[in-house]
Amino acid sequence: MKGTQVIKQHYVSKFILKNFANHKEQVFESLIGESKVYQTNINQSMCKKLTYEHSELEQNSLETTFSEIEGSIAPKFKLLIQLLDSEESEIVEIKKIVLDIIYEVIIFYYRSGAVLHEMSFQKENKDQQLMNLLRHISNSEYIYSLSKTIVDNYNFAIIRSANNEFLLSDQYISTASLNVKTRFANISNRHIGLKNVIILIPLSSKYYIVFFDGSVPNDIQKERINNISTDTLFLLNRAIINNSYHKSVAQVENVLKERLADFKYHSPAKTILSYASGLHKSFTLKKEVFLYDDDEKAYELFANLEYQKFMYVGRNDTCPCGSDLKFKKCCLSVYEKVDKIKNDMQMQVNPTTYMINSKYVAEKSIDELISFEEPELLKQVKEATTKTE
Ligand SMILES: [Zn+2]
Repeated sequence: MKGTQVIKQHYVSKFILKNFANHKEQVFESLIGESKVYQTNINQSMCKKLTYEHSELEQNSLETTFSEIEGSIAPKFKLLIQLLDSEESEIVEIKKIVLDIIYEVIIFYYRSGAVLHEMSFQKENKDQQLMNLLRHISNSEYIYSLSKTIVDNYNFAIIRSANNEFLLSDQYISTASLNVKTRFANISNRHIGLKNVIILIPLSSKYYIVFFDGSVPNDIQKERINNISTDTLFLLNRAIINNSYHKSVAQVENVLKERLADFKYHSPAKTILSYASGLHKSFTLKKEVFLYDDDEKAYELFANLEYQKFMYVGRNDTCPCGSDLKFKKCCLSVYEKVDKIKNDMQMQVNPTTYMINSKYVAEKSIDELISFEEPELLKQVKEATTKTE
């Protein structure tokens, strides 16, 4: 590969970071686990030394591929923001551009999420971890099917934070569940393909693209550019920070500082998976993000098996949670919600109750998706690896 090697390789594109920076290209960044906030230049933010180097790939090859993708879509991001700022723009026009960039946006998502999650939490060596990443991002059919899932099944809207107060997660795209039930269907932590989900795609500290199914706050109307309230901003930023693995970024320091307290490393973690095939898998470890507190509460009840202690309680009995209230005035509604999901799973009801549309569940099983035709880059890596063995 020609050219000099890029040492600091960004897992969130610099041109996106720029939209979260001040005019000197400075952002506020946080190490969320350590509750630290500091100011830094975008050249130093959301990057790691030689993130994308694989011993069997040509130096800088993956980094170069990402730069090419960025080069082709950065102008479209710029245009989008200009149109949104111009006030006279039509939502139809905006949407057209969004649909045009969605494929690349999904690549950005995997590029960041995979690096930060699969590469740092799994105990594989770096080459193998990079293979996982390549498998996703260079599988055009997979990326295409995810893009199509979003475009065909979710409502579209733009949201605006008047004071540039949106955060940005190091996973790039953030997702949150809008109802507890989705957490027991055929899931991944990416949520794409499920009902009752909001998908948050960052444009800048002022604008986010959202795709959603289910009950969103009422200042988010589909097919509109929405100015959101402080309450909604709070919910969304909390979801964004909880989508972060190590870092979050903001233009406004205080917003980042305030939301850091809401970060939970150990969000409810045990998840029951129910696959389209009817197979159940118990207690997979997942980090889940909910937009609303009630859904999180119901989820915890289920995930920690605490619902068992409510099973034989009468409506007028004292609630076993220790609140001194009657069951019917306390945890009954949450328990009923959870009980219904449990029964649905046992009866193996049609999973479409929980899914957008089973034919669109792109996250169905990574293993199935891997069996798609192998991407060229991955082939090269495999060939090279076999030779050395
Ligand atoms: Zn209670």
